[in-house]
Amino acid sequence: MASLTSDKVNLLDFDRAGLRAFFETIDEKPFRADQVLKWLYHHGVSDFDQMTNLAVTLREKLQANCEIYVPELEHGHLSNDGTSKWIFRLRGGNSIEAVFIPEKNRGTLCVSSQVGCALDCSFCSTARQGFNRNLSTGEIIGQVWLATQLLGQNPATKHHRITNVVMMGMGEPLLNFNNLVKALNLMLDDLGYGLSKRRVTVSTSGVLPAMDKLREAVDVSLAVSLHAANDELRSELVPLNKTYPIEQLMETCQRWVGKGDRKRHIMFEYVMLDGVNDQPQHARELVKLLKGFPCKVNLIPFNPFPKAGYLRSSDEAINRFWQILTKNKIVATCRQTRGDDIDAACGQLAGQVNDRSKRVLKFMKPRFGENL
Ligand code: SAH
Repeated sequence: MASLTSDKVNLLDFDRAGLRAFFETIDEKPFRADQVLKWLYHHGVSDFDQMTNLAVTLREKLQANCEIYVPELEHGHLSNDGTSKWIFRLRGGNSIEAVFIPEKNRGTLCVSSQVGCALDCSFCSTARQGFNRNLSTGEIIGQVWLATQLLGQNPATKHHRITNVVMMGMGEPLLNFNNLVKALNLMLDDLGYGLSKRRVTVSTSGVLPAMDKLREAVDVSLAVSLHAANDELRSELVPLNKTYPIEQLMETCQRWVGKGDRKRHIMFEYVMLDGVNDQPQHARELVKLLKGFPCKVNLIPFNPFPKAGYLRSSDEAINRFWQILTKNKIVATCRQTRGDDIDAACGQLAGQVNDRSKRVLKFMKPRFGENL
């Protein structure tokens, strides 16, 4: 089995401040770190010898002590609708998934933050895989690095560019806080990918203390996975709600958007599960909860997976739900399902997780009969 770590320092594990500090420890000037960042992220260079504006002695020093490590491509799939899904193998035997969704004026990369997920949301296939570990910063930003290279190499995708990143792949990003923040810094940094804060989104099930911390640490957009507007139902769908119930969640969201004329808002995600949370009374509850709050609701048609135990809401139910929100002046959109022919849609990402939570055992028996 491949070892999890290497004795060399992975330069992709540092954001700008971290790399500058590291360069000081090896008696190099901070501006050298900036030069290296440009090679890594602007030019996609993974070989020290190609960093031609660095002195040969520095290149040799880096070669001896450092590495540029990104996960390895295990499989790539291209969907009929142009969506790409990549499975990346990590050191130590797990693999993770990232998805690229091209649209007319943008290209969105959906990035994983953990190997599996510890949160056990009842409708999510990643949850069924159990949990192994947090991704390093290099493994998070490495997905952007690799996707950039892979898009460029394929004649069918070489004109596609990553304009947006959403932390909506495998895992709960806010439970991998420190590594996440460094990776976000690199996405935003001009010496990194230079994306605007409106185009980098962290999606969370509602880890409240970490939401407050994130607000202080880095300026990005926030999506909150709500899925139900009452505690009983939300606790069933998102068990984290038992720890952080809706009232506290909304107080934290209020702190996130701030007071006064700041233009922050939150996107609330709401998966549409047939007969579970998609009825008019659920829409009315949601209106009551969100009325006047600076937000947008994104309705996500449930993406099925084997033995999920749920069905996707009908188009009529989704439409009816949407109309109730809209009539009550809540801005709502419905997420178009993309890449489902290659299991790349929301909640279908599974990777290869060497589960350490023993959760997979729980799902050996189907919950609601064989066919769902
Ligand atoms: N842990 C984070 C990010 C994970 S997934 C979070 O909970 O926000 C990103 C979005 O996809 C979340 O809103 C999640 O609830 C939703 N999702 C998960 N499984 C799904 C499925 N099977 N169909 C549709 N959306 C799903």
